[in-house]
Amino acid sequence: MDRQLKRKGILFVIIGPTGSGKSTFCGRLVNEFAKDLHYSISVTSRAPRANEVPGKSYHFVSRDEFIARRDTGDFFEWEETHGNLYGTLLSNLHNGIDCGVDLLFQIDIRGAMSLKRSFPDNTVSVFLVPPSFEALKSRLMGRGTVDPHELQRRFATAREEYAALRKLSEEPGKIDYLVLNHDLEDTYSQIRSIVVAERSRYHRMDQCSVSQFCEVNDVGA
Ligand code: ADP
Ligand code: 5GP
Repeated sequence: MDRQLKRKGILFVIIGPTGSGKSTFCGRLVNEFAKDLHYSISVTSRAPRANEVPGKSYHFVSRDEFIARRDTGDFFEWEETHGNLYGTLLSNLHNGIDCGVDLLFQIDIRGAMSLKRSFPDNTVSVFLVPPSFEALKSRLMGRGTVDPHELQRRFATAREEYAALRKLSEEPGKIDYLVLNHDLEDTYSQIRSIVVAERSRYHRMDQCSVSQFCEVNDVGA
C-alpha cells in the first residue's frame, strides 16, 4: 500500500487591494493544484462583473437573501465593503481543516484576521501589493473597472488595507507573507512556493502518519 504523510488542511488567504492580482493568482493556483486546493467561494450581494461566473467566482445573491442567510448563521464571517456584503460560508470551512483539504480564500484583511484568530495554526496569510499606484491604476483600467466613483471607493478601501497592514507589523504571525506583484510569472512562482513549503510544515502533520516513516530496524533483523 502507498504510504503517505497526512496533515491538517491549510487555509491559504490571499489579501490585497483591488487590482493587486488576487483573482489572477487564485485562478492559477486552483488550476495547478486542482486536486487538493479548493477555492472557498464566498457569497456576495455585489452584481457580477462581465468576466465572472456565478457559482465559481462568487455565489451572487440579493442583499435581502444575504441578510436572511447571515441571520440563520450560514457565515463564518461577513463584512461590508464598498457598500456590498461579502461572507465566507461556514460549510466551506468544515470541508477543509479536518479533512486535510487545503482551502484558498480571497477575502479582505478583516476576514483574514478572523480566520487567523479562529485557526491560528492552520491559516497562512499572503498580502499582495502592486509595484506602484500607477501600475495599479493601469491594471484596473485594463480589467475594465473604469467607473471613477467606484474607483475612488476602492482606492479609499486600499488606503485602509495598507494602514491595517502596517499596523499588523507589530503583531507577528498575523501577516505571514508580503509579495510584490511586479512580474506576473515571478510573482506566481513566489506564491506557489509558499503553498508548496507550507504543506511541509511539521506541526500540521498527523503523528501516526509520520511514525510510519521513522522506522529503523536492527542490522540483520
Ligand atoms: P484583484 O483580484 O486583486 O482585484 P486581478 O487579479 O483582477 O486583481 O488583477 C487586476 C488586473 O491586473 C487584471 O486585469 C490582471 O490581469 C492584471 N494583472 C495582475 N497581475 C499583473 C502583473 N503582474 N502584470 C500585469 N498585469 C497584471
Ligand atoms: P471584489 O468586489 O473586488 O470581488 O471584492 C471586494 C473585497 O471583498 C476584496 O477585498 C475581497 O477580497 C473581499 N471579499 C470577498 N469575499 C469576501 C468574504 O467572504 N469575506 C470578506 N471578509 N471579504 C471578502
